[in-house]
Amino acid sequence: MQARAAGLIQHIREGTIMNQTPYDVIVVGGGNAALCATLSAQEKGARVLMLERAPQEKRGGNSAFTSGSFRMIHNGLETVKKVVPDLSQEEIATTDFGEYTAAQYLDDLGRLTQYYCDPDLAETLVQNSTDTVQWIHGKGVRFVPRYGRYAFKHEGKFKFFGGTVVEAVGGGLGLIQAEFKAAEKHGVEIRYNAQAIALLHGRSGIEGVRVRVDGVEEEIGARAVVLACGGFEANREWRARYLGAGWDMAKVRGTRYNTGDGIRMALDIGAQPYGQWSGCHAVSWERYAPDFGDLDSRSNSYRHGYPFSIMVNSEGKRFVDEGADFRNNTYAKYGRIVLQQPGSYAWQVFDAQVDHLLKDEYRQRGATKVQANTLGELVQKMQDVDPVQFLQTVREFNAAINSDVPFDPNVKDGRCTAGLAVPKSNWANLIEKPPFVAYSVGCGITFTYGGLKIDTTTRVLDIADAPLAGLYAAGELVGGLFYFNYPGSAGMMSGAVFGRIAGREAASFALGKTAA
Ligand SMILES: Cc1cc2nc3c(=O)[nH]c(=O)nc-3n(C[C@H](O)[C@H](O)[C@H](O)COP(=O)(O)OP(=O)(O)OC[C@H]3O[C@@H](n4cnc5c(N)ncnc54)[C@H](O)[C@@H]3O)c2cc1C
Repeated sequence: MQARAAGLIQHIREGTIMNQTPYDVIVVGGGNAALCATLSAQEKGARVLMLERAPQEKRGGNSAFTSGSFRMIHNGLETVKKVVPDLSQEEIATTDFGEYTAAQYLDDLGRLTQYYCDPDLAETLVQNSTDTVQWIHGKGVRFVPRYGRYAFKHEGKFKFFGGTVVEAVGGGLGLIQAEFKAAEKHGVEIRYNAQAIALLHGRSGIEGVRVRVDGVEEEIGARAVVLACGGFEANREWRARYLGAGWDMAKVRGTRYNTGDGIRMALDIGAQPYGQWSGCHAVSWERYAPDFGDLDSRSNSYRHGYPFSIMVNSEGKRFVDEGADFRNNTYAKYGRIVLQQPGSYAWQVFDAQVDHLLKDEYRQRGATKVQANTLGELVQKMQDVDPVQFLQTVREFNAAINSDVPFDPNVKDGRCTAGLAVPKSNWANLIEKPPFVAYSVGCGITFTYGGLKIDTTTRVLDIADAPLAGLYAAGELVGGLFYFNYPGSAGMMSGAVFGRIAGREAASFALGKTAA
């Protein structure tokens, strides 16, 4: 209703409502990338309309499902204090935040993506990371140190690893609520249940968006458009088409609204597809999770404790190095490996020595869990697993461990196996102490890697690498950054960095057009 503000002249033409006063910028999407674009465009003085496909109570896209964490360059306490000014003396005394340099960040991006990631986009992401988190903080988002997933307490001290040290208060939901609050405070118009379905364009470039609201189509004029409406992970048909056979069966970890609309709309007017269209971020996930994520129980299906487990498939065999690296560097690619197992499922097996390292979600209702005092009893309870092979797998695994190396969950401890066809490189513990527990996992898809090609100012490029005038993009629907794997928390950082740039650039393009 807000969009029908005084001063707008509207008329109905062949069932289409045409807004006669164009907005400076329309931002399509309601997640972190869209919110950063909106806040940044508004900050530059643009009149902004945000279109969110979801209803208000489900707003926020995948961003709302996250921990609200950002991977940024930092030099430890000094950087952390800039966004967590109220750190207590006790926290300071008992925490080693480490540091994370630009070189490490770039190295992680390169190594994990097999050096396919676009170097210019990577450089832009990395160099703008810290400043962008501080900018978000300045918009009213509060942060806390990310204890728990990225720092285990060992010998009285938390030691961070993996380059992610802060998260928004209230997680992703808290983050987007604070960002929406900032947008509303600054008078940004937001329309919910508003699905963008096409881009309007003419000789001078982008002219607006065609949108469907409650089954009625409208055309809304704008001088520039930012597409920030996610990938295609929630589109079962596109998953099977682009990711490959079997992907239609993956569970969607987050929002149901990211069906590739933004990508399709841009391709329809000549944008260039870019990045790894057959690639996606996918994790080990509760085998019988619902088809889509649910904001009210958003972490119930996580099964990220596998570095301290052995994972076996239906044949009772291990199939992946569970301890190849910190879970943050492997989890995004292990969902695909689970999907590729016979029947597309696996079991994570733990003994009592590591039980305390498992997060709360392992104990929540909905986990497919079995427990027993002997391994023989355990495997009888593990649905569809070869019992003979399973027991042999555990025997061989236990015999292959180098127990001279001490176990330490905070570092890559090098406590590995020797001589196994599928090694375990770190955190290899004997599976010997009852009770034994096993959790069944399938594949949960997080987001897709393929998308649109942009330049470092987020202009969407056509097949000749020329910008489509007035069209900008940020977030999941940008291709070229992630391939095969991804460093955890770089997704939110990418949405924030490129969203902020997109808002700024779209605003200056639109305001320049007005002045001309
Ligand atoms: C369970 C889960 C946990 C995650 N954890 C992390 C984490 O801890 N750290 C991290 O960095 N990343 C994490 N990610 C990935 C992260 O969510 C994404 O990288 C990031 O949120 C992408 O932001 P975005 O704004 O591009 O997309 P989204 O937040 O998904 O926003 C897309 C928006 O577009 C809207 N939309 C879609 N189609 C249309 C349309 N046609 N018209 C209008 N609006 C439309 C959607 O409703 C939604 O509001 C996680 C993802 C999931 C699912």
